[in-house]
Amino acid sequence: MSYTEEVYERVVAQNPNEPEFHQAVKEVLDSLAVVIDANEEEYRRLSILERLVEPERIISFRVPWVDDNGKVQVNKGYRVQFNSAIGPYKGGLRFHPSVNQSILKFLGFEQIFKNSLTGLPIGGGKGGSNFDPKGKSDREVMAFCQSFMTELSKYIGADQDVPAGDIGVGGREIGYLFGQYKKVRGLYEGVLTGKGLTFGGSLIRTQATGYGVVYILNELLADHNMSIDGKTIVVTGSGNVAIYAAEKAMQLGAKVVAMNDSNGYIHDPNGINLDVVKDLKEVKRARIKEYADLVPGSSYTEGTGIWTIPCDIYLPCATQNELDLEGAKILAGNGCKVVVEGANMPTTLEATNYFLDNNILFIPGKAANAGGVATSALEMSQNSMRLSWSEQEVDERLHRIMVDIYQKISEAAKRYDMKDNFVIGANIAGFEKVVDAMKAQGIV
Ligand code: NDP
Repeated sequence: MSYTEEVYERVVAQNPNEPEFHQAVKEVLDSLAVVIDANEEEYRRLSILERLVEPERIISFRVPWVDDNGKVQVNKGYRVQFNSAIGPYKGGLRFHPSVNQSILKFLGFEQIFKNSLTGLPIGGGKGGSNFDPKGKSDREVMAFCQSFMTELSKYIGADQDVPAGDIGVGGREIGYLFGQYKKVRGLYEGVLTGKGLTFGGSLIRTQATGYGVVYILNELLADHNMSIDGKTIVVTGSGNVAIYAAEKAMQLGAKVVAMNDSNGYIHDPNGINLDVVKDLKEVKRARIKEYADLVPGSSYTEGTGIWTIPCDIYLPCATQNELDLEGAKILAGNGCKVVVEGANMPTTLEATNYFLDNNILFIPGKAANAGGVATSALEMSQNSMRLSWSEQEVDERLHRIMVDIYQKISEAAKRYDMKDNFVIGANIAGFEKVVDAMKAQGIV
């Protein structure tokens, strides 16, 4: 049995009931096989892979809070501090009922490679809670965030672990979390990113993940003699990543014809009116369904199946495993040529392999959505320097980072004779830097 297969079996045996984590490890180890085989003796001796797949630390805690009826609620809270070889732990907090240790370990593991690809000094981590902010009052969200941070604050810090937002954690939640950190630790420091602009946030952070997805898409298209201008695009989700991916794609001349949320999808053949989506989702916290009542010529379909809408480019920006093999085949059958992941692992392994085997250009989330964490790292730099860069400066840096990531993943794939296999390219390029740092720092 090969070294990567051995380590994968060990991960499955030692981490039962963690299917998402297994899936993320399998995808990474399979695509690293070429590099591992070439250095097998050394990596085995140093147990590089065994160390890489084991988080440095997992903190799990109780989060009690009082709801608007005076009843005490209890949620689970976590922080997975996965790997700090190249910098302080960095990765978002997710508040969603589906959150469990498996999901956070998969996200934390992916984050190691993503953060490495940005070229910035940030390690991998992820955290969150099974708390659902949907339908809660602002006071309830604040009570939850305060309780969550009272415990988490013991384990994080500007040079130690710097969380950010993710699903269910936006500007409002980050504000409450930051306020509580300051109160209990007595420190005004850049311990969270995605902060409001009046208290240390960075311009462009809100837009960064979505814009970054389209910047790397643009590089991919240019490298294959195509252009985004005039293309029909389906963007899934209607949250932070989806909205700003759609915005940048439209600015560059594409037509976005469909978006969704976890209840269903809207189709607007004339091109989505993003102001309506922003008002529904960012201001009213409403359901995407209401779009169809507001915009003539559009329609709403309850349930899944957004992939049945024909498009040239598909940008899955909602959640993990939203697109399976059947959906992938339908997309390809309808002429889709390019898939770039805005979400983390939205495409199942089978669907990913189908794209790779059928000449559909595919960039995985760990490269394509790295603009978010990269801009978070830029926020950390500004906080440390007590400076704020202009919108243009941050946007230019983000753009440069995404171009750079495209070059890195494309070059790594070519180096191993796998041109255009950006899954392999992203994993190898991210892995090499982390492993160099781990080797240099000894057995820790
Ligand atoms: P948000 O909470 O802002 O938005 C998530 C969106 O996805 C919502 O519209 C949500 O709908 C929808 N959604 C959730 N589950 C499903 C489902 N099963 N089917 C269809 N739609 C669904 O999160 P973000 O936009 O921040 O995050 C989206 C993805 O991007 C996640 O995978 C996240 O890890 C990843 N990501 C985010 C970054 C960031 O900077 N925010 C950075 C890098 C990656 P509903 O309202 O119904 O729940």
